[in-house]
Amino acid sequence: MLLGAIEGGGTKFVCGIGTSDGQIVERVSIPTTTPEATLDEAMSFFSNKGIAALGIGTFGPIDVNPQSPAYGSVTSTPKPHWSGYRMLDHVKRFLDIPVGFDTDVNAAALGESVWGAAKGLRNCLYMTVGTGIGVGAIVEGNLVHGLLHPEMGHIVVKRHLLDSYAGNCPFHGDCLEGMASGPAVEKRWERKANELEASHTAWELESYYIGQALANYILTLSPEIIILGGGIMNQAHLFPRIREQVKSHLNRYVQHPVFSTDLETYIVPPALAGNAGLCGALALAKEALIR
Ligand code: ADP
Ligand code: ZN
Repeated sequence: MLLGAIEGGGTKFVCGIGTSDGQIVERVSIPTTTPEATLDEAMSFFSNKGIAALGIGTFGPIDVNPQSPAYGSVTSTPKPHWSGYRMLDHVKRFLDIPVGFDTDVNAAALGESVWGAAKGLRNCLYMTVGTGIGVGAIVEGNLVHGLLHPEMGHIVVKRHLLDSYAGNCPFHGDCLEGMASGPAVEKRWERKANELEASHTAWELESYYIGQALANYILTLSPEIIILGGGIMNQAHLFPRIREQVKSHLNRYVQHPVFSTDLETYIVPPALAGNAGLCGALALAKEALIR
């Protein structure tokens, strides 16, 4: 049995065909242009592939409440043309199969929990630090949605003493995303993030903000593992620094044996590596089929 998967991003939509045990057998990358053109191209990829269900993990904010009249649409995004776009309706015009629909980070969290680093655990977080910052959460075995869906990339953070950057979030200025996303790093230092040497102060600030955020999520959600992905996390030296910052922010308050380790098994890269998003969408397809 084959399943379809869409990882919808601001620059590209990756479409894949996979099996119910998480193997991707075919994939294609479509540049993100207007909603109609992008989805039409995606749908022509899936036509005649014989998929039994489709999973969509997409950038947002999106409406993920099946009871809502706007279920399956993009809500408000600064991205031109995409606000209010009814993605799920578009897909349903082409495919008469079960479709799972969730945020890109919820999908990645699900993928990691079914086939990756959080396998067998009922509580995990997946955070991406890239063009934006987003976090997907699984709590007691379920993806967290609630009112809309969590927006943990936009939390309030305490400013680093050495940091005078105003922040670049169009809504909040110096929220976490405004201070620590890839574009924030690049604007603050006027250099490409991948060209900043490991010893640059940029990374001290970055670990401080990400570590602070993770400490807050640990205090509020009690995840059993935290997975960090996204372009910025290609800077592998950030992992030990973020782990240090988490311990420093928590200051021995959370009493669990894992916090007497160096957190190497607690704050980890995605086991599915670059496939976390696409495998996550595949996992959404699998869930939709079972449902
Ligand atoms: P997206 O968030 O659009 O899905 P990515 O997760 O690849 O895409 O994030 C892109 C961001 O990651 C860019 O803003 C860039 O600053 C940053 N980035 C990409 N590669 C690297 C790298 N090797 N080192 C540091 N930063 C990187
Ligand atoms: Zn914000």
